[in-house]
Amino acid sequence: QLTTGLESAWNKLRGVDVLTKENISEPMRDIRRALLEADVSLPVVRRFVSSVSEKALGADTIRGVRPEQQLVKIVHDELVQLMGGEVSDLVFTKSGPTVILLAGLQGVGKTTVCAKLAFYLKKLGKSCMLVAADVYRPAAIDQLTILGKQVGVPVYSEGTEAKPPQITKNAMEEAKSKNIDAIVVDTAGRLQIDKAMMDELKEVKKAVNPTEVLLVVDAMTGQEAAALVTTFNIEIGITGAILTKLDGDSRGGAALSVKEVSGRPIKFVGRGERLEDLELFYPDRMAQRVLGMGDVLSFVEKAQEVMRQEEAVELQKKIMSAKFDFNDFLKQSQNVAKMGSMSRVIGMIPGMNKVTPAQIREAEKRLAFVESMINAMTAEEREKPELLAESRERRIRVAEESGKTEQEVSQLVAQLFQMRAQMQKLMGMVQGQEAIAGMG
Ligand code: GDP
Ligand code: MG
Repeated sequence: QLTTGLESAWNKLRGVDVLTKENISEPMRDIRRALLEADVSLPVVRRFVSSVSEKALGADTIRGVRPEQQLVKIVHDELVQLMGGEVSDLVFTKSGPTVILLAGLQGVGKTTVCAKLAFYLKKLGKSCMLVAADVYRPAAIDQLTILGKQVGVPVYSEGTEAKPPQITKNAMEEAKSKNIDAIVVDTAGRLQIDKAMMDELKEVKKAVNPTEVLLVVDAMTGQEAAALVTTFNIEIGITGAILTKLDGDSRGGAALSVKEVSGRPIKFVGRGERLEDLELFYPDRMAQRVLGMGDVLSFVEKAQEVMRQEEAVELQKKIMSAKFDFNDFLKQSQNVAKMGSMSRVIGMIPGMNKVTPAQIREAEKRLAFVESMINAMTAEEREKPELLAESRERRIRVAEESGKTEQEVSQLVAQLFQMRAQMQKLMGMVQGQEAIAGMG
């Protein structure tokens, strides 16, 4: 699979000192082949490879990082980006029931996903109702009813006579009157994309204006996934996708295409037939799966570790020369928030496992707050915080542009200088101790 292809690609780079057009050409060909073998569609592969090559050639060499490690990291990061970068959870409406409409071909797992989503929503503490809008086979309604019982959520059905748009609209009214938080609408699929199916989905969509339109895609779809997602997105407009049957021996290529061709993220993956076999989609985990878990992954970690160290050294230099500015401030706030959310995902970063979800939320909130003000500063102001300290006019402008108060901007500026002072004091102490130790 992908792993073997990529591993041989990395091996070719052992022993070179720097990434060049010549020495990456063979590994890039291997990467291209490996992705195609993993059923990623050709246009997606082309864009991916050209973007990775460009980044690899433009990358500064980093002390302590082997070129092949650096290439792994670039491929890893590009894969993560390609799949949307971040986790993207369900969106809920502020008032009224959230409507989640499922679409997709026959047999991909829509009805199963309905039940799994109901189970997921229940865990979130949200009430939910399933809607039987697949009216062409009585068995489909029975299947949903049984699943609903299993999860312990009501199933709304009007039998096989009514029309899906009307059923869904009625279901929404009922959910509203019963204060139900969300409804999940099961629709009919066909073996192939056809006009009748699309028209029906469009009508259902028009009738209830869903918060989420999720395209359910079978991971085995492979190469065709790109075209399938494109068509559904153009025809009905999707807000995301769910990739099912990832427990099978699919090569996962579909995962790489969804975001790239539709601009919409994969939100969940299905890994089995049980209710609990639905998980949020983590692009970084998927990238790791694609890259393989052995040697290659430890390369990535090593490279990331060294890059963090390099950054830390940079930061230290800045602190010592009293140049800690708003760019550094922002980077530091981002790292704190990132470390927080990473610890939530991984739960095992040494020294980070005591971070509570409340603390993470706090760090993220703080980051958004700080970011908006720093974004309103000019490049010069970010590099020379003195400008803001000296000019009330500038502070007022930043406040206005970021929608904050003048006082909040003043506090931020004051905080930066405080941090500078504290850091220098700390550095002074360290240097003092070193000097004392050196006298020995
Ligand atoms: P629908 O036609 O889109 O509604 O598909 P169904 O929900 O009826 O599922 C079709 C078949 O796929 C059923 O036998 C499911 O048990 C199975 N299925 C659904 N999701 C998964 C999954 O994530 N993994 C596996 N192995 N099977 C699944
Ligand atoms: Mg079904």
